[in-house]
Amino acid sequence: MTRNNLGRFRRFVVDFAALLEGDPPEALILERGGALLRALVSEDDWLPDAFAAPSPPYAQYLLHCDSAERFSVVSFVWSPGQATPVHNHTVWGLVGMLRGLEISQPFALTPSGLEAGVPSHLRPGDVEAVSPRIGDVHRVANGLADRESVSIHVYGGKIGSLERSAFDAAGKARRFVSGYSSRVTPALWEPVSSLPPTLPHPSEHHGASLR
Ligand code: FE
Repeated sequence: MTRNNLGRFRRFVVDFAALLEGDPPEALILERGGALLRALVSEDDWLPDAFAAPSPPYAQYLLHCDSAERFSVVSFVWSPGQATPVHNHTVWGLVGMLRGLEISQPFALTPSGLEAGVPSHLRPGDVEAVSPRIGDVHRVANGLADRESVSIHVYGGKIGSLERSAFDAAGKARRFVSGYSSRVTPALWEPVSSLPPTLPHPSEHHGASLR
């Protein structure tokens, strides 16, 4: 299968930037942006192999950063056994599953430590949201023992530069800045990456509710 249909990703980037015009409320970003992301990850023909290559402890490749830093898009690649520490984001985030299976375990921070919530199992085409408003702390792991899983994350800021927190089992926070696994992004504005027609407005999709 060829995986270089960058026009599809470029369309997503353009549509997501348009969605953020006028500074809409977070709930609207998560709903309509979630529908855009669901459409993107429902097709596995666009992510170049270089941005799906595994690397320890897990790979996070910057795919795009909005020129006004209103949002950024990152591909995460999990090998079998790889997982994040328990962490927060401090901004809204959307996780769209492209390949494999990802297990997202949410936590609540309580005076007695971390309290585990109900984990979600994300399969290709599934989208999940996080934010300080709706729940911002989780641990993400590959749900497959025999192959890689890949997910596409969209965040309400330049995520690799944000000061965030990782938590130990007692809920003690450690500050971290994630950075990225690479210094390059896909060449979205090269002539070969033509912009496909606009998709139907996200609100016209059905079955677009967030998990
Ligand atoms: Fe996360």
